[in-house]
Amino acid sequence: MRNIRLFWQIFPACVGITLVSMLLVVWLATTTGRDFYIDHLKEEIRERALLIGPTVAVLSRGEERPFQEFVRQTGRRAATRITVVDAGGVVLADSNEDHALMDNHAQRPEVAPALTGETGYALRHSRTLGESMLYAAIPVKLGADEHRGALRLAIAVTPVETMLALLHKKMLGICLAVIGLAVLLSLYSARRISRPLEEMKRGAEQLTKGRIDQLVKINSEHMSVEMAGLAASINEMAEQINRRIRIIIQQRNELEAVFSSMADSVVAIDADKRIIRMNQAAAALFTLPSEVVKGKAVEGVIRNAYLLEMIDFTLTHNAPQEQKVTLFNGADPILLQTHAVPLRDEDNKSMGMLLVMNDLTKLNRLENIRQDFVANVSHELKTPITAIKGYVETLLDGALDDQDNARRFLGIVIRQANRLDAIVDDLLTLSRIEDREKKEEITLMTGEAGAVLENALQTCAVLADEKEIIVQVDCDDALYAPMNLPLVEQAVINLLKNALAYSPSGSLVTLRCHGSRNRHGEAFVHISVIDNGPGIGKEHLPRLFERFYRCDKARGRDQGGTGLGLAIVKHIAHLHNGTVEVESVPGKGSTFTITLPAAPREQQEDGAD
Ligand code: ADP
Repeated sequence: MRNIRLFWQIFPACVGITLVSMLLVVWLATTTGRDFYIDHLKEEIRERALLIGPTVAVLSRGEERPFQEFVRQTGRRAATRITVVDAGGVVLADSNEDHALMDNHAQRPEVAPALTGETGYALRHSRTLGESMLYAAIPVKLGADEHRGALRLAIAVTPVETMLALLHKKMLGICLAVIGLAVLLSLYSARRISRPLEEMKRGAEQLTKGRIDQLVKINSEHMSVEMAGLAASINEMAEQINRRIRIIIQQRNELEAVFSSMADSVVAIDADKRIIRMNQAAAALFTLPSEVVKGKAVEGVIRNAYLLEMIDFTLTHNAPQEQKVTLFNGADPILLQTHAVPLRDEDNKSMGMLLVMNDLTKLNRLENIRQDFVANVSHELKTPITAIKGYVETLLDGALDDQDNARRFLGIVIRQANRLDAIVDDLLTLSRIEDREKKEEITLMTGEAGAVLENALQTCAVLADEKEIIVQVDCDDALYAPMNLPLVEQAVINLLKNALAYSPSGSLVTLRCHGSRNRHGEAFVHISVIDNGPGIGKEHLPRLFERFYRCDKARGRDQGGTGLGLAIVKHIAHLHNGTVEVESVPGKGSTFTITLPAAPREQQEDGAD
């Protein structure tokens, strides 16, 4: 059945009920009124008949003329038609007509009962008079023989009907007015009932559309108690739904944030092997935008056979799996620790799976670095220890007696011990710098680059003299940088020591510093150590700053180096947000440059003070 608006259900029903009740009232009122009136008239004309009945009886025994005259006169005076009928139905006298011309009245419905001794009544249209008449006939004893006849009186009911018609008209008028009023009242009531319901409907529709921000509170003013209660319940329900939706949205956003910021790559896959979600890490891993893959078949996104096998297995057997998988997406292979976990809904039914991939490449690399480092440290420490052990054993085996050799051997032992000391010192320095780098705890003060170079030169002056190397300082004035002075000095000393160690005697080493600005206007201080030594082959440059890296292993050790000097320089530069670079031409020399961000102008002035 078609749904009809509440308004159209209430309004016509109210109007209909009013209309029918009004018609009923009118009908009842008019019929009862008419019946009452007619009954009253009947009684009245019967009484009139009873009143003149004896006179008629007496006069009927006499002459005809006075008798008929009495009937005519009385009838005219009383505005009542009077007819006297004998036992055979013959009309003996009539107040309105010539009785001789009148039909036999024995069969008239009012006359017939009177002739049998009863009072008869009839209401009908009189053709003779042309109007509706009410007849009442009573039995009378007529003539000398006192035979039973009938005395009939009749009065016109037209005035009654006219009055009733008038009453009808008035009632109809009242009826129309009442119906009009009923229409207006029904309209008002139907609106009053349907309007709040429509408002509630609109509110509910907004809820279903999920427009929680534009939730309209249903105004319960001018509502009935029940409606106001319903409106309050709906408002409360809407508030609660609103609150819950907000909580769900917040939880979803939190989950979204966790999901997308996870370092692990996560892919959610449904039971039909389609991608439900993929976080940013996974999208980056497969070099795809995470949004586009939603709903795509897994084979179109993940092309690694091992991963696809894992997905198949987990979906078909509904069991978790863990495996290491190597991905060959870019230039370098990526080692992944992969977990495949089935996803179940609250009824424990399978709804897909989750693939979680943890990139082990970096960890692996770090592990390799750690292993290399341990091996390198062990090797570096082992070399002087072996030498010390060897010479001490030789001495104990009798070489002590040979004074010259003993002195030479002890000299070697002390040199190797110094080397050990230097290595341990450098390792400690490196670990301290790394520690500060990690904790970011370093106090930087504005220092002048020229002063750093002078200090470093003073520290290495003896070494330079020993090798007869001239160290020249070429420094622009007033170059300030925020620095930890002892560390930057240490870095320059390391570079200068290398330059002196690897350059031939009599050569020239230059300590230079100058300033520069990049295209963003940022100022930098560059400290360079330039030598004319053997230079460094191109192949060594990328690894030169690694710990224990030496271009020429034997030569490096002979020079007394620990293999950690440049690694320390690199860490010191990083600690200052700076860099260290090398330019070298084999056979011509090398230039090592430390670049530090310059101090802001106001701090430069403080430094100058
Ligand atoms: P080492 O203690 O062996 O000098 P470093 O870390 O200071 O260790 O230097 C690493 C390697 O770089 C050295 O073994 C050497 O081969 C090379 N090297 C460093 N400085 C120079 C230089 N000025 N000229 C030539 N080679 C250099």
